[in-house]
Amino acid sequence: MAKVDIKSLGYQELQAYVAGLGEKPFRAKQLYQWMHEKLAESYDEMSNLSKTFRAALEEDTIFTVLKPVQILTSALDGTQKYLFELEDGNVIESVLMKYKHGNSVCISSQVGCRMGCRFCASTIGGLTRNLTCAEMLEQVYRIQRLSGERVSNLVVMGTGEPLDNYDNLVKFIRMLSDEHGLNISQRNITVSTCGLMPNIRRLAGEDLQITLALSLHASNQEKRKGLMPVANKYALADVLDACRDYFNKTGRRLTFEYSLVGGVNDTEEDARELSGLVQDLNCHINLIPVNPVKEREYVQPERSVVQAFKNKLEKNGINVTIRREMGRDIDGACGQLRRRYMKEKV
Ligand code: SAH
Repeated sequence: MAKVDIKSLGYQELQAYVAGLGEKPFRAKQLYQWMHEKLAESYDEMSNLSKTFRAALEEDTIFTVLKPVQILTSALDGTQKYLFELEDGNVIESVLMKYKHGNSVCISSQVGCRMGCRFCASTIGGLTRNLTCAEMLEQVYRIQRLSGERVSNLVVMGTGEPLDNYDNLVKFIRMLSDEHGLNISQRNITVSTCGLMPNIRRLAGEDLQITLALSLHASNQEKRKGLMPVANKYALADVLDACRDYFNKTGRRLTFEYSLVGGVNDTEEDARELSGLVQDLNCHINLIPVNPVKEREYVQPERSVVQAFKNKLEKNGINVTIRREMGRDIDGACGQLRRRYMKEKV
């Protein structure tokens, strides 16, 4: 019989599972607390559970724990990059960023990605598989345990397209914000998508209070197609309609990410068109000077061009910030640590 992926079970599911093993209901509460609040690394730590119960769990379940294989710390701002090995030998990347308002973790949602965005390193090897709910939770748990820092904010902006792993993602968010677990406020959670329109609409109906970030990167459909193959599937107007629906249903202000690529989408005309596109939406634009990826030819615009782009948006009354680059010295662009590690291994 297939083993039970115990860390992916929600509180009620765990109660049912524990009852099925003939244990008292309060055992489920203790077990959940060990896994999701005390962030235990093994059943051995769970000293208030009987040895026989623990042996039965050992036999019957998969107890997901991520193994750190590399941890890099930035000398500039304390940002930490974690490379974790999964049970099947795959590796994924997560980041801890320290801000005045608290600690934020950036997690991966898939091993690789199949969305194919032209400027992104994570998509170069394609998609290997979805992460389980437990593997997403574990990135936060291990980082909190290893760093000794309390994690208060979460962004799903690492490798992978979160809305391409929809069910696991939604469950992960519910468990991470569950009062029996780390209890991270949904308002401190951001999910970034390249724009899988039907799943944005689905997410709007989940009764969650998370922030939705859309990777826009272009101010019209044609230009977007040149950077993001997903635009061939969903028209920009329809994606923005889905975002509008998300705001109407949740009341959460939208975030649009716009990677500025030198000579591609960084002119004042682009800024003007972008202003028009989002004018009637309650939103905030995050400008990200593109991270050069070795395998790609894209370059960052001059600093003055980035500033001019921002000024133009501001003049048009748009809320905008330039993303502060964290951990520049340990970086390479998003997903590149994992790529380098895999290359060195072979
Ligand atoms: N798949 C999701 C989340 C992953 S990436 C998404 O597409 O939104 C998080 C953000 O980083 C996205 O906006 C993505 O487009 C952007 N990004 C990826 N590679 C980048 C690069 N080399 N430079 C700047 N931004 C990049």
